[in-house]
Order: sequence, then C-alpha cells, then structure tokens
Amino acid sequence: MWGSPLEVVLYLINVSSSDNLHNLTCEAENQAGPGEDVVQLDIEFPAKILNLSDAVQLHHWCFSFVVDGNPEANISWLYEGAELKETAFTYTQLIPDSSDGSKKHGCLSLDKPTHINNGRYTLLVDNKLGKDNATAIGKFMDNPFGLFDPEGIIPVINLDPIPTNKSVMDVTENLESRVFVVSVAVGLAVFACAFLLVTMLVINKCGHNSKFGIHRSSVLGTEDDLAMSLRFMNLGSSPPSSDEDSGLSSFVENPQYFCGIIKDKDMCVQHIKRADIVLKWELGEGAFGKVYLAECANLSPNSDKMLVAIKTLKDANESTRQDFQREAELLTVLQHQHIVRFYGVCTDGEPLAMVFEYMRHGDLNRFLRAHGPDARMLEECKMAALGELTVPQMLHIAAQIASGMVYLASLHFVHRDLATRNCLVGEGLVVKIGDFGMSRDIYSTDYYRVGGRTMLPIRWMPPESIMYRKFTTESDIWSFGVVLWEIFTYGKQPWYQLSNSEAIECITQGRELERPRTCPKQVYLLMRGCWQREPQQRTLIKDIHARLLALVKNPPVYLHILA
Ligand code: ADP
Repeated sequence: MWGSPLEVVLYLINVSSSDNLHNLTCEAENQAGPGEDVVQLDIEFPAKILNLSDAVQLHHWCFSFVVDGNPEANISWLYEGAELKETAFTYTQLIPDSSDGSKKHGCLSLDKPTHINNGRYTLLVDNKLGKDNATAIGKFMDNPFGLFDPEGIIPVINLDPIPTNKSVMDVTENLESRVFVVSVAVGLAVFACAFLLVTMLVINKCGHNSKFGIHRSSVLGTEDDLAMSLRFMNLGSSPPSSDEDSGLSSFVENPQYFCGIIKDKDMCVQHIKRADIVLKWELGEGAFGKVYLAECANLSPNSDKMLVAIKTLKDANESTRQDFQREAELLTVLQHQHIVRFYGVCTDGEPLAMVFEYMRHGDLNRFLRAHGPDARMLEECKMAALGELTVPQMLHIAAQIASGMVYLASLHFVHRDLATRNCLVGEGLVVKIGDFGMSRDIYSTDYYRVGGRTMLPIRWMPPESIMYRKFTTESDIWSFGVVLWEIFTYGKQPWYQLSNSEAIECITQGRELERPRTCPKQVYLLMRGCWQREPQQRTLIKDIHARLLALVKNPPVYLHILA
C-alpha cells in the first residue's frame, strides 16, 4: 500500500549541552518493514572552562585545560593580566582525537621555562553565546630571590598590557602588596579550581537518561583521582560466596584446580622443547612480552610441523614466573572449541614462552574494525576481503563467544576481562576467547595497580565491579553485553565519547550504551538483559547463548534490509 509522505515534527524541551552526545534515532515501520535514520543533536551553548590545572611537567611544562562550547570556544591567555602572545616556546596545544564530544582538551605548553615565567596564567574562552575565564599558577624554577621577585617582571612574555579585569589583573608596585595580591590570586585560583572540579562532578553528565536515578556524589576527577578512588574502593573486601554452587555467586575466586582433576580429567602442563620451535615473525605485543608466529615440530603425532603463536614473558622475576606457571596450569585445564587452544610451555632457557594455536586473523577488535564502514579510512582493508560484516555474521561471532562463556560459567570460572580485544579470530570466522590476563591477576592481589600501567577495564565493568571490586559470573555477563555492543558497532570503544572518570560516572548512575545502528531490536534487548543493575536479574549466559543460536538460525526478516 502506498501512502503520502508523513511529516512529523519532534520538539525537544529542557535540552542541555550533554544531549549533544546522544544520537536521535527515528524509527518507522510498516508492512514492508522498518526503517530508521539518525541525527546528531547540535545544541548551542556558551563557552565555558571545565578544568584548568596549575603547570605540571610532562614533556614540556603544561597548564592542562578542558573547555567546552558550541560554537567552538576561542581560546586566548593572559599572563599576569596582560595579553600573552604565543611563541614557539609558549603555545596552546590541543590534544588531537581526545574524542570527547564538543570538549577540547589541551595544554598551554612552555618549553624550558625558568623562574622569570613564574606567575598567574589566565585562560580566556569565548563564543557568540558567552565567555569564561580561569587562572592557574606556574611555578617553574625556584628563584633564589623568592617566588615573585619585584625585579623579575617576566621580560620574555609580558607583552601588550590590555585593559584589566579586576579579578585577575592588577600588578601592584611594591613587594608587600605583590605578595598579598599573589596570595589572594593563589587562594582564588585554588578556590576556582576546587569549585570547578566540584561543579564538574556535581553536573550530571549522564543527563536524564539515568535508569535508576541514583545521583552519587563522586570524587572522580582526573585519571589519577580515578586511580586513587579505585584503589580506595579495592580496600572493601568481598566476602566469599556461600551460594557459589547455585550460580548466584556474590564473589567467586577462581578455584585453584591446577595440574589437578577437573571434570574427571587429570591434567598437567605440557613442556615443549625450545629446539622444536622456529620463530617466524612478530604478531603483536602483549602486556607481558612479544607474541610471535612460529613453526613448532612434534606437537601432534599426525602432523610434522604446525603454525603456532608464542607468547613470551619478558623480565621474568620470581613472582612473574609463578604467575606464568599458574596461568599455564589454568590454560591446560580450559579446553573448549571456543577457548583458544593451549599447547604448553617452553621453559628450557629464556624467555619463558607459552605456545597457543595460531589464530590467523588476530584479535577480534582489530578484525571488527577492519570489516566495518571505517576500514578504508583506517587502512586496515588488507584483511577486508570479507567486506563489511553482515548481521548474521555478527550474530555468529557473538554466539561463539557466548558458547565459550557458557563453558567458563559451568566451571564457575570468572573471566573478568571479557572484551573483543581478548578474543581471537581464525579461519572461517571461527572465534575463540583468547586471553585470560586479568583472570590470572586474582592470584596476585597487588595486581590491580590502576594508577600504574595497568588499568581496570572499567568500560566493560558493571557498577558492582567498579564500586566494590566484585567480579562474578554475572559481571562477566555484563561484559558480554558490552562485547555484543562492540560487535555491532564494528569495534568501537564503549563510551568512546567519555573519559574514564566520566564513563564510571555514567555506568554507576545506570546509563546504558545506545543501540548501535546495525543492531536488530532482539539483539539490543539481549544487551539490555546483560545490563540489569541487579546481578541476579541479568539473563543467564546459557539463555543468551540459546537466543543467539536461534537468531543465527532464523535471523529476523528485516536483518537483510539493515545489512
Ligand atoms: P596480552 O594479553 O599479554 O596483552 P595478547 O594476548 O593481547 O597479549 O596478544 C597481543 C597480540 O598478539 C594480540 O592482539 C593478537 O594480535 C596477537 N595474538 C595473540 N595471541 C594470538 C594467537 N593465538 N594467534 C594469533 N595472534 C595472536
């Protein structure tokens, strides 16, 4: 049946700048099938400064800032109340690809400043709707004459004094009043920074999308604050579960059943001779060392040589050797068609190595990106012979990971770091769970050095894992929902538009990832079933697996249109 075009107008009231982060999807459906289109909101708002920090030494010295505004904010600086002309040694540098919506992250960079550059730096931002300013302090090198030497009035960068604004600009003549003004300015700057920080945190960045309406005040400001807070949270102990066996576990430590009996099988780690391994080339770099493609002889009685992936362990000390041994024992036990096959260890000499089946297409995240709409842009189309992935192929990938997870759950094994980067893709779109790095960490409680090089995968973690370090079969289900989202976005990073601390804020407040464009409703419902706030209400992994298998066998009719 033909109809005339229908014009519908959607009015939005009470919108705010944070709504720009959302896509608005219009869905329509008739007998011939559904259709949808997406628009990005473009709400204008005044320029504002979200953060300005005192100078810290990175590569150069940096006053880091975050500003926001639509239209884009213009940025300029004052030094001690006078216009700061940018030079090759003092310049504003925006961090490219910080992909944070309309926010701009950057630095006022100073190359080798000395005490004569000490003082107050005022950031000015404006757009057609408004302006904002904030001041931070640069204290670069201690001046033998005291911080603000009356004689040292910044000869290098104090140019073109401009009409001053009483809050930041007066420079007085005598030392006493200088010190006084400086103290007040420092006080104001500290207050302003504290106020800005508090304001930033109180503003509910998640807007009104919060499912649970919980408005926790948070102390998560910078990434370091984040690290500190997580470390702090980790102090909360998680009692062992009493109902582990019922599957309603509140906290399940992975059982230590190494080199022992599991499911009536007695298993010990295989040792592979170094002389049987011939390295071919590097495949990638993992957290603990390089990963190589190699040829290995005498692995199976049927074949002479086999291609394998070798994971090496660099800088092995006593404790990493123990972790290595435990991981090898664990991997020996885990045997399933959707868990990457582990052949054994090579310990006769250095470096220590683990030998795995070779998965030709590497990690799933890279694979998804290489088979998505941006593949050409990312120049990863070398492996794009398959073209863009279709919805049935995505469902097939998801069903295989679910199958591996059903197996892990049946062993009460908690993965803790399920993500597409930890799955591997082989010939014929075979997908396996391939990395248990985080799972190994349970053996070393110091391992969650979130402030150091290791970060918790918070974008994949449910609220209870973020807040109480509670990892269970149910928290793995949450992560599986995020993996589904990754698959249907061709490998996008969850909450890519948010910083880690903002992502934490949103997850703990109950905001959910949006439905990806190519995602059928049934699959989005599955994702939402994984993201129930109450762990016990999350869909069981075996049910998710069954539903995915049913969808693979019988994809919804309109899938073909979407694909
Ligand atoms: P880690 O977990 O220690 O960070 P990974 O397991 O992620 O290390 O390995 C790093 C990279 O090496 C992966 O992203 C993948 O590209 C490659 N790789 C790892 N294991 C295999 C394998 N079995 N087959 C093929 N490539 C692999």
